[in-house]
Amino acid sequence: MPIPVPIAIGGAAGLGAAFVGWQSVWPGGRMWGRIYRHGDRTRRHYAITFDDGPTAGATERVLDVLGEAGVKATFFVIGRNVERWPDLVARMDREGHLVGNHSYDHWRYGACRHRRYWEAQVRRTDDAIIAVIGKRPAMFRPPLGVKTLYINGAATRTGHAVITWTQRARDGVRVITPETILSRIVPHTVGGDVLLLHDGAEPGRSRDASATVACIAPLVRQLRDKGLEPAPLDELLKLPAYQPAVTSFAAQ
Ligand SMILES: [Zn+2]
Repeated sequence: MPIPVPIAIGGAAGLGAAFVGWQSVWPGGRMWGRIYRHGDRTRRHYAITFDDGPTAGATERVLDVLGEAGVKATFFVIGRNVERWPDLVARMDREGHLVGNHSYDHWRYGACRHRRYWEAQVRRTDDAIIAVIGKRPAMFRPPLGVKTLYINGAATRTGHAVITWTQRARDGVRVITPETILSRIVPHTVGGDVLLLHDGAEPGRSRDASATVACIAPLVRQLRDKGLEPAPLDELLKLPAYQPAVTSFAAQ
C-alpha cells in the first residue's frame, strides 16, 4: 500500500530534523563547517585536552600531575573563569600548555542564540585570555560540542579552528572514579586521538576533580604500554595554537 503523501512528507521532515540534530551534537558532524577532531592515524601520538576551567581547587592539581608526568596538554577555558582565576591561566602558559577558547559563559542553551551572541562569546573570551598571556587563541571548542551555523561561523570569522574530540572521559557530568575514566578511554584510544577531560566547572557550578586528577598518571602510563605517546594538540592537528596578531577586539 503506498504511503499517503502527508505522512511521507512528515516522515522526511522528521528524518531531516534528526539528521541536523545529530550533525550538531556528534563531535564529527561537519554540516556546519569544518571541524578538527583527530590527527594522523598512522602516527603513535594522541593529545590530552581539558575543558571548562580554570577552576580553583581543580586546575592547579591537574597542572601538578601534568608537570610530574611531563605532559603538555591543552586547556579550553571559559572566559568568565579566566577573569576569575587569571593566575591559573598564566600558569598553564608558563608551564608549556596551550590555551584555547571555550566560550565566555558556557551557557547550556546558548546553541539557540544567533550570530551576534556567539561573536561576543568568542571575542570576550579571546580578550580575557589575551589580557593574561598576551596571545589570541586560534582554537575554539564549542560548549558541549554543539555546533550550529552561528557558533561555527563566529569561531571561524574570528580566526579559530573548531576543535572537537574522539575519546571522552565523561568526567564533567557526575561522580566518577579514575577506573571508570581509564576503562572508557584506554581500550579505545588509537594514534591521532584527541582525549577530552575536564579540569573545571561551568560558572555557578562546582565539581570534584579528584577522579580526573587521579587518572592522569595511569592514563599516560597505560597508553604508553599500548605504544602511544602524548603530543601537544597543535602538533597533532597540524594547526596553530595562537593567531599571529595580538589586537584586542575590545579596543576597536
Ligand atoms: Zn564545556
